Amino acid sequence: MFSDYIEKISWDETTERIYSKTASDVEAALRKQHQDVDDFMALISPAAAPYIEHMAELSRKITRERFGNTISMFIPLYLTNSCANSCVYCGFHVSNPMKRTVLTEDEIINEYKAIKKLAPFENILLLTGENPVVAGVPYLKRALDLAKPYFSNLKLEVMPLKAEEYAELKEHGLYGVICFQETYNKANYKIYHPRGMKSKYEWRVNSFDRMGQAGLHYIGMGVLIGLEEWRTDVTMLAYHLRYLEKTYWKTKFSVNFPRMRAAENGGFQPNVIMSDRELAQLTFAMRIFDHDVDISYSTREAPAFRDNMATLGVTTMSAESKTEPGGYYSYPQALEQFHVSDERTAKEVIAALKAKGLEPVFKDWEHVLD
Ligand code: SF4
Repeated sequence: MFSDYIEKISWDETTERIYSKTASDVEAALRKQHQDVDDFMALISPAAAPYIEHMAELSRKITRERFGNTISMFIPLYLTNSCANSCVYCGFHVSNPMKRTVLTEDEIINEYKAIKKLAPFENILLLTGENPVVAGVPYLKRALDLAKPYFSNLKLEVMPLKAEEYAELKEHGLYGVICFQETYNKANYKIYHPRGMKSKYEWRVNSFDRMGQAGLHYIGMGVLIGLEEWRTDVTMLAYHLRYLEKTYWKTKFSVNFPRMRAAENGGFQPNVIMSDRELAQLTFAMRIFDHDVDISYSTREAPAFRDNMATLGVTTMSAESKTEPGGYYSYPQALEQFHVSDERTAKEVIAALKAKGLEPVFKDWEHVLD
């Protein structure tokens, strides 16, 4: 399990190693055919900042060779904002006295139909807060069953589950799972996640192993930028990604680096700010480190930045996302998890990507192939 692996890696020493990287370490990393985590540290370090143009070109070249001109399009759908956890940076936390919505079967179908009117989305990501009492495995199974007539690629972003539960959901059409570790800093993890199942670091960090054991086709990972020193966090993610790719080599992986936005609880201010330039550097570094991983950008990022990064390393994007349950069919009373930055319609996003010479792809999976 990855918790045993990461136990041997010191957070502080890793931070020190990243910040001690020099220009010659960066140049050596850029010359290599196959980069290891030490090279990745050099590429995300401040020493690599002057090399960003070169990294962008290399990232663009690798991405086009591996993925062609395609951008895989997906849409998120929040099934509920009910949550038993108390993440200090999220408006859905259990102590927030807000109205909770759990979509009924009819409401879920209305959402599916409303999404199909936006664009020919086939790749849907169903999200919940983490409350197994109201949105546990039976609810998720039903949501997947209801989605099948409308979408060919079904993914979930829900509470970490047991391996047998992932396997059960796979029987209901589940293709992949996205989960964010949020931060790999074990010493501080509980400060941000004080209560509920999410406060259990090992349970979360080992959920990726359980997904692999269940034979899921696709596993998405990420850290939340804004909690801890981001360079150290993404290095831990790089270790994790390499470990998973070696252990579960049949599975495809994706990464995402969401930058924290203000939540509706009005409270938490990010501890760390990452600039656009730093996110670009990280994206290029990840592509150079891992030629095959999907790099996903959500509508948290601004339109012009997303459009540019789509030509330089990003391979998966959402569009016209609503982050409140019922938001597509329009149940406007529900609280959104965070406010999106790219508010364009899906059609506008598609047109912008095409204008950049890219081909937005809506269907890249067929269940008959399973
Ligand atoms: S981040 Fe997720 S688990 Fe944490 S409070 Fe928000 S919805 Fe719940």
